[in-house]
Amino acid sequence: MAKTTEGKCLCCGGFFSKGSMNKHLQNCIPRKAEYETAEIEKTESYYCIFIQGQYSPEYWIYVDIPANTTLKVLDGFLRDIWLECCGHMSQFIIDKQTYSSYADREFGERSMNTKLSSVLTVSEQFKHEYDFGSTTNLKLKVVAEFNGKKRKNKAKLMARNNPPIIECSYCGSPATNICCECIYDGKGYLCDTCLEKHECGEEMSMPIVNSPRSGVCGYTGGRYD
Ligand SMILES: [Zn+2]
Ligand SMILES: [Zn+2]
Ligand SMILES: [Zn+2]
Ligand SMILES: [Zn+2]
Repeated sequence: MAKTTEGKCLCCGGFFSKGSMNKHLQNCIPRKAEYETAEIEKTESYYCIFIQGQYSPEYWIYVDIPANTTLKVLDGFLRDIWLECCGHMSQFIIDKQTYSSYADREFGERSMNTKLSSVLTVSEQFKHEYDFGSTTNLKLKVVAEFNGKKRKNKAKLMARNNPPIIECSYCGSPATNICCECIYDGKGYLCDTCLEKHECGEEMSMPIVNSPRSGVCGYTGGRYD
């Protein structure tokens, strides 16, 4: 199976482990420069949020997002980078309250048109679920809050894990594809050579992508891949 990987800081290009990335981001000089401004009225408050797969923690990212944006913006970002296959429903779970992409007020659900600053604080941990059938579960944590220069694009990717090396279930070379049939028997990872000989055929296979949703439903990669 996948080994834990390092990740890349997208501000300076440096590589760091998952655990040391947070500290690095706080000291990363190009990242600091991005937020610098002499005009205090052009600043806003940001959260840095750490996100990883609940059951596949080798997939992780750090995202900076203004505290006054909504959960909907964060949901959209997660869909773009990791999740969106066919428009499934999703929800955040924060302090036992759910915030749904299709809120049903009769059932006491709240919508994602909720400002981050009204429900999150630093060191708060929360969850996100995409697709209530073949669910992808994410764990999130607000790791920092800071003030910085306003920018146009709301959520911004700061760091991301390198694609994990997954071994071919048949020969041990790096796998490139998942067989949607054999994955349930634990023999679903295939390199290019083994895929050609594989009895289920290429139409059952999907490319391996750098996401906790790799191999699930019709997911073949996101806007950032
Ligand atoms: Zn950096
Ligand atoms: Zn789907
Ligand atoms: Zn192989
Ligand atoms: Zn197969």
